[in-house]
Amino acid sequence: MTQMYKPLMGRDSGLEPELWLVVGKGCVFHSEPDQWLWTDNRLFKDSDQVVIGYFDDKPVAVTYQKDIPSADQTPLRSILSLQHEGLTLLLSHGLQILTAERDHRFCGRCGSRCDGKAGEWAMVCNRCSAHYYPRISPCIIVLVHRGDEVLLVMHNRHVRDNPVFTTVAGFIEPGESAEEGVIREVMEETGIKVKNPEYRFSQNWPFPHSLMLGFHAEYESGDILLDSKELSDGDWFHIDNLPDIPPGFTIARKLINYFIQS
Ligand SMILES: [Zn+2]
Repeated sequence: MTQMYKPLMGRDSGLEPELWLVVGKGCVFHSEPDQWLWTDNRLFKDSDQVVIGYFDDKPVAVTYQKDIPSADQTPLRSILSLQHEGLTLLLSHGLQILTAERDHRFCGRCGSRCDGKAGEWAMVCNRCSAHYYPRISPCIIVLVHRGDEVLLVMHNRHVRDNPVFTTVAGFIEPGESAEEGVIREVMEETGIKVKNPEYRFSQNWPFPHSLMLGFHAEYESGDILLDSKELSDGDWFHIDNLPDIPPGFTIARKLINYFIQS
């Protein structure tokens, strides 16, 4: 049976959790293999926790722990790679609510303490009432194509541990449309001018709060000139002869697959 997650649209202090998602630094703590949620909270009952939704109709809370020595731990990305729809949504939602609570404990305007607001996910300043909603950061991610070839790059930070070629990506700047972001990022990172950016689909990426907007774009002109601060490699690859590329649960891979199939 598929396990479903239904997120709450705000804090509900009247709900008693029956399940707990326990997040650590880059990992989830769990008591048994493949058992991602805890059914009792003895080991962390004195920690801050917030009920974020229902998992299989049971209220589920999320909490952050530095360590639980007796527990197993699994990297967050490994859990996303399972492509379990309910679990992915629970994890993405829970991580972003936790991040929002941690990042907004104090007011950026007056420095006073903030508390969670009932019925919303906002943190509200005790003194000046400024509201801080969970941050969502829009990024573009784009597969550039030229005939049957695609432009793929390798990031400096991936060279050692995870040397895959992937699509160009970056944050949208203030004042910019997503399409303008596509054209600027590809030019900045690769020296290539693109045209006709076309939106395909999006993916939430909770590290810590990105919303990836996936595009295809056509090559217009230019030769590859890599931004060496970001990229260690980049080239045109024929779709019948691709290098190692990201796994199937990533939007980069979905953009590549979609192009090959269309
Ligand atoms: Zn304030």
